[in-house]
Amino acid sequence: MTAPAPTDGFADLGLRDDLLATLQQQGYEEPTPIQRETIGPLLTGKDLLGQAATGTGKTAAFALPILERLPPGDRGTAPTALVLVPTRELAMQVSQAVHTYGRRLEARVLPVYGGQPIWRQLKTLARGVDVVVATPGRAVDHLARGTLDLDSLEVVVLDEADEMLDMGFAEDLDAIIAATPPTRQTVLFSATLPRRIDQLAARYLTDPVRVTIGRAQAGVQHTPQVRQSAYVVTRQLKPAALGRILDVEAPEAAIVFCGTRNEVDELTEVMNGRGYRAEALHGGMDQEQRDRVMDRLRSQTADLLVATDVAARGLDIDHLSHVINYDVPAAPEGYVHRIGRVGRAGRSGVAITLVEPRQSRLVRAIEQHTGSRLEVESIPSVADLRARRLELTRETLEQRLLSDTDPGRFRGVVESLSDEFDLLEVALAAVALVHDTVAGSDADETELPEIRLHDERGGKGGRGGTGGRVGGGGQRPAGPGGGPGRDTARIYIGAGKRQGIRPKDLVGAIANESGLSGRDVGNIDITPNFSLVEVPRGAADEVIRALRASTIKGRRTTVRPDRHS
Ligand code: AMP
Repeated sequence: MTAPAPTDGFADLGLRDDLLATLQQQGYEEPTPIQRETIGPLLTGKDLLGQAATGTGKTAAFALPILERLPPGDRGTAPTALVLVPTRELAMQVSQAVHTYGRRLEARVLPVYGGQPIWRQLKTLARGVDVVVATPGRAVDHLARGTLDLDSLEVVVLDEADEMLDMGFAEDLDAIIAATPPTRQTVLFSATLPRRIDQLAARYLTDPVRVTIGRAQAGVQHTPQVRQSAYVVTRQLKPAALGRILDVEAPEAAIVFCGTRNEVDELTEVMNGRGYRAEALHGGMDQEQRDRVMDRLRSQTADLLVATDVAARGLDIDHLSHVINYDVPAAPEGYVHRIGRVGRAGRSGVAITLVEPRQSRLVRAIEQHTGSRLEVESIPSVADLRARRLELTRETLEQRLLSDTDPGRFRGVVESLSDEFDLLEVALAAVALVHDTVAGSDADETELPEIRLHDERGGKGGRGGTGGRVGGGGQRPAGPGGGPGRDTARIYIGAGKRQGIRPKDLVGAIANESGLSGRDVGNIDITPNFSLVEVPRGAADEVIRALRASTIKGRRTTVRPDRHS
């Protein structure tokens, strides 16, 4: 069992040393799939149409090639690149990312969005900016005022284009693109590719490279032995949530995957501080260090391995019971690789994923790829934790009672105490002492807040939550009457592509068996093992009753409300 050496994937993509040094400093060990596929073509100046959701690493995928273009020295005042994004939050986030990646190049980045005093933006624009990250409305304001000079623009990026169209920015986009030089490189990223996006791409892009990440790939891998669940938690609360989950799950040995080296180091330290025996494993460590870590895990002097994907590649740890994704992997294939480390040779295993509220799309992609559902669970409460600790104490005592060890030398102690106290009292005091040592203290435990996944448009209060599934429909453009805002409920049907289910089978079954017409059926989503159908909320019960009483493609199947629609 030796740890493999890391590879250096970013250098192969042709990025300059300054950028490579920054990526190394960020702790990025290898490009994500979207970065691997897009950076090369973008560096050659090709237009690109990419389907990728938040969390796939798409910001670096377009930002690094933009930064690679910036010449050293004085760069004038007009921007080289314009990134258009749907929301102010995303403008700030992308701008921060470009700033971070471009720090060594002294890249000048400005977020431009409504709600911020325009004079501040004017001053910075006048001083000179390399990359403007703007919401379309505010970009149009600047164009009308003559304060945004797009004449020297070399690259335009439309990020989350589907969302910009949904928010009614189509005309603004047209006006902005019309103000850019025809020689520009145009990059369009969208989480979904409905026809409207194709039309937009046809207008703005020339002979684009097409890249798709995380689209459904039926039947790729089936992992029936692995219990898969997810917890929705904000970034700040992840260490606390991880601790709570580990306490309740009590893994025999667990591997916790992080996205970067820095994260591995930080989390290892935090977990050790919280009393876990955690070891870090990442590509920045030499072979000897890595071997030592693996030895400690093998001899069970450590029970938590915190690792990057690269460092953990090829590891085979026999007694591994849990895989924990501290971050949702950027691509579903990565998820499958990770969880493939448990549940081997018919053994059961557990895969746990910590999901940030905005990451429903990534989880959805994983569900589609694996054909299995990720159940969203509640972070264990303080009461759960206490119950688990008592259970641990009970098990410890039970083992001791069942063992052959002769406890005779303590008999005198018990007998002398029993003169004064009831035997039950003596036992209770002994259990309390054992509890403190084996299960730790109950002090300082606070409840962790229960939060929900944002829906796929980035809003709050969407899907997910306790005991349900994450993600939602959206693979199919809204059908007749299936537009946003309609009061719909989703129905889970326990048959999918593997059973040969097609949309028309579901529409047909619903129309035949219930009082609805095909037009009333909204989004339909068919994954390898199950399907989700949207119907008007008021009709959901009737549809469920009717489908349960009938067959779909000649088979009876599970039909129930999707718990979080
Ligand atoms: P994005 O999809 O652009 O919002 O990126 C999602 C997260 O992945 C961000 O926190 C990035 O810092 C991180 N990230 C991007 N590229 C990499 C990489 N190659 N390795 C590790 N983390 C990355």
